[in-house]
Amino acid sequence: TNFEALNLDPRILQALAEEGYTSPTPIQAQAIPSVLEGRDLLGIAQTGTGKTAAFGLPILHRLAATAGRPPRGGCRVLILSPTRELASQIADSIKTYGRHLGLSVAVIFGGVGFGPQRAAMARGVDILVATPGRLQDLLDQNAGRLDHVSTLVLDEADQMLDKGFLPAIRRLVKAIPAERQTLFFSATMPSEINRLAAEMLRDPVRVSV
Ligand code: AMP
Repeated sequence: TNFEALNLDPRILQALAEEGYTSPTPIQAQAIPSVLEGRDLLGIAQTGTGKTAAFGLPILHRLAATAGRPPRGGCRVLILSPTRELASQIADSIKTYGRHLGLSVAVIFGGVGFGPQRAAMARGVDILVATPGRLQDLLDQNAGRLDHVSTLVLDEADQMLDKGFLPAIRRLVKAIPAERQTLFFSATMPSEINRLAAEMLRDPVRVSV
């Protein structure tokens, strides 16, 4: 099977060809059709399986196909990630896959100054990649809003649990409309993560690689 068979936007296919991607990895082949349909997803997968493109490609396709501008002070897609390194990698990959689409991508994480992140949030972005603690800090300062989020991704949920981000995640989720698409990824499924997934997902497709 190849990417053409997945009915992705031709501009995304062009970017994949430029990257030398010829065929989807197993998690991409299994996840992309369901995510394109708008289904929720529970993905049990490690880093290195191609999971960033498994959620990134259909998210880009759906954003490009939906009329709408980035909301002032907010975002249309929110991706939560446990570390600044991973958040930056996800943002870079999504910028690469979406480079012919003209969508905006920003990344927010702790340990650096608030100024540029507050400014990016104030302008509004299509896709925001964030660590939960810093995003919560910005919301507490009234420097952002999540009421325009239509798609939420939790990446490496088990790592976020280990880092103590579960309370922040629960607070963030409360600020996001219940009417949304949610994609939940974890390498392992300890009981607390299972419970969080059950709280957040609606009739999810399960993919395990
Ligand atoms: P990830 O698991 O998302 O961190 O991806 C692992 C690595 O595989 C990254 O360097 C991606 O650029 C690469 N990759 C992801 N999907 C594909 C694909 N379908 N073909 C070739 N390389 C890929």
